[in-house]
Amino acid sequence: MATKPGIAAPLIAAVSPADIQRAKEAAVAAYTEAYTPIHPVKTAAGQVLMCWFGRVDNAYDALARAEGEKRAMIQGAVEDLGRRAKVATNAAEQAVSDYTAKCLAANQVPDEISAPRCECDGCQSASYRQRYWSAVQTVREAMMDLFLPEFAGDQVPKLLGLSDEETAAGIRALKDACQGLVDMSEQPIDWMEVIR
Ligand SMILES: [Zn+2]
Repeated sequence: MATKPGIAAPLIAAVSPADIQRAKEAAVAAYTEAYTPIHPVKTAAGQVLMCWFGRVDNAYDALARAEGEKRAMIQGAVEDLGRRAKVATNAAEQAVSDYTAKCLAANQVPDEISAPRCECDGCQSASYRQRYWSAVQTVREAMMDLFLPEFAGDQVPKLLGLSDEETAAGIRALKDACQGLVDMSEQPIDWMEVIR
């Protein structure tokens, strides 16, 4: 790069367009690695592609279903997978931050680096479980609304102080919550677990 005589090198813009382009490509590559479904995972249904998040969620799900010795055997592997996923996501955030810093140093507005919302099997089952437990929580809250004492220190359930209309409304809310869980659940519901 040609420099004017007398101007110290550090004052010349240190970030070239090629530097910015390289940083952007590195950020896109790191983001793709961290957040898109490109990792082959063996499942009962055969090999599928998952993102890191889905992969880790899938492994923890398998761990939760494993029993005894098998559980102890895969525990370490699952934790290792979690650490590697963290390394990949940290690298993605760092690469985006490096790219942004280079753009700002060159007085440029950085392009947004992002990944589309992942729909891999792991992400879908994580999303399903989240919705399931949210529906369970709605049932529990409707029950607590009827049974817990209205004020701390009360010795009777709130239900005993309700009018017929309020009781009917509370039962209706509980029925709706149960129906909501039945409608969304893709598996047989363990009701003892729901009310625990
Ligand atoms: Zn995913």
